[in-house]
Amino acid sequence: MELEYTDKDTIQRKYETVVNGYFSGISKDLGFRREQLRNLYYAIQDNEEALADALHKDLNRSPDETEILELNQVLTEASLAISKLSKWAEPEKQHLFFKDMRYAASSVKLEKNPYGAVLIMGPWNYPYKCSLIPIISAIAAGNTVLFKPSELAVHSSALLSQLLENVLEETIFQSVLGGITETTQLLTYKWDKIMLTGSTKVGKIVSRAASKHLTPVTLELGGKCPVIVTKNVNLSVVAKRVAWGKLVNAGQTCICPDYAIVEHEVVDEFMFRLEEAIKNLYPALEAGNESKDYANIVSERNFDRIQGLVKNTKGTVWQLGEPDREKLFYPPTLVRGVTVHDSLMTEELFAPILPIMEVENVLDTAPALISQFHDGPLAAYLLTDDKHEQNYLSTRIRAGAIAINDVLVQGGSASIPFGGFGSSGTGHYHGKFGFDEFSYTRPVLKQTKFAELLLKARYPPYIPFHRSL
Ligand code: NAD
Repeated sequence: MELEYTDKDTIQRKYETVVNGYFSGISKDLGFRREQLRNLYYAIQDNEEALADALHKDLNRSPDETEILELNQVLTEASLAISKLSKWAEPEKQHLFFKDMRYAASSVKLEKNPYGAVLIMGPWNYPYKCSLIPIISAIAAGNTVLFKPSELAVHSSALLSQLLENVLEETIFQSVLGGITETTQLLTYKWDKIMLTGSTKVGKIVSRAASKHLTPVTLELGGKCPVIVTKNVNLSVVAKRVAWGKLVNAGQTCICPDYAIVEHEVVDEFMFRLEEAIKNLYPALEAGNESKDYANIVSERNFDRIQGLVKNTKGTVWQLGEPDREKLFYPPTLVRGVTVHDSLMTEELFAPILPIMEVENVLDTAPALISQFHDGPLAAYLLTDDKHEQNYLSTRIRAGAIAINDVLVQGGSASIPFGGFGSSGTGHYHGKFGFDEFSYTRPVLKQTKFAELLLKARYPPYIPFHRSL
């Protein structure tokens, strides 16, 4: 299947539709927003199977994995936004009477206002949750949205765009299908806010385009997330978690463990436990068959890229199966004895490959090593049961999030803000954090005629006595 890209004139028309849609005022009404979110909720719920099947066609990803990792979270986010909308949108009253007497006769409230017309661009690896959660937040906050899904997840992007255009009011939602040319056209327009989930490289392109109009951006970018393993951890518990987090979606997850820094004393056990866990997670692969639970690599280009990185590694490679370019199957891969200059450490892997670096003492080396590979990964995972080590490492490592003794799960809750740091992005979303990300706070001050008595001091001719008021 090929995506039918949106033509130039239609893109222009769609842009004008969402800009005019915002100025029509329709999206300001809370009842209207709730209705749109409900439409979205039911569109996803009624089509869960079709959505999971579409992604199965794109990535050979198990429909169960799509349910667990994407659709459940999307539905939770949508129903939360519907039920909490009034509370989130409620202006916050400022009580100044005892804080500043000059305002004792005034009323001040902080309003949450939508930015306006926003551009949301989604990735191919989690095409549902990384698109729908931002769309939910943007609509909840009262914006109008132009959505551009990834051209690489062909079936999922086509289906998602069509479903949303069918159920959302056309003046507040439009989608554009396309690749670099279409994205480039979209980036020439003046938006009120842009959100990209994608690579750091495209994040810079978006930032440059946005700066022409001083448009605020939310950038959810790539990571090279380290796992730090000290000798003070129960590996029988945590190795399975690492294996799972590395291999869901065949390692094509922005917050998945990218590499491990492991204390020398426990490397043998860590390798053994990982191999054991991987075999247990994918028994079909262990038996030399295809696994229905194991996804494919997205494209031949990516397959060749990761194949090249593994060919050039100086480490010792362990694989559960043989790479197969025709089937876009790349097996779970562990690489031991990797050093800082290894091919596997030069870029975000985005693959089912875990390079393992051995060090004498992680406390001494890990923080400096991590900043050498990535100026602010999306997440850092600390595997240690020792509280001192947990505190020491978390205070010295800069990352979008820290998780201790688990991986990935910090990205799955509407109560935990999700976002990067440094080159892994800027801004946070999920739940109320997303509503706030798509709103700007506007103070509204209302003055009364009685205030005049309290404000005497501001008028000339000034009386020195009043300076302290
Ligand atoms: P990408 O940056 O290649 O593409 C994102 C979008 O940018 C696509 O719509 C594409 O059409 C457009 N694009 C690509 N090149 C462009 C150019 N030169 N000019 C203008 N537009 C261009 O990202 P991707 O391959 O879809 O996704 C993979 C990346 O996304 C990984 O780095 C991954 O870590 C990251 N990601 C981050 C998160 C997060 O939440 N932080 C989530 C998922 C994926």
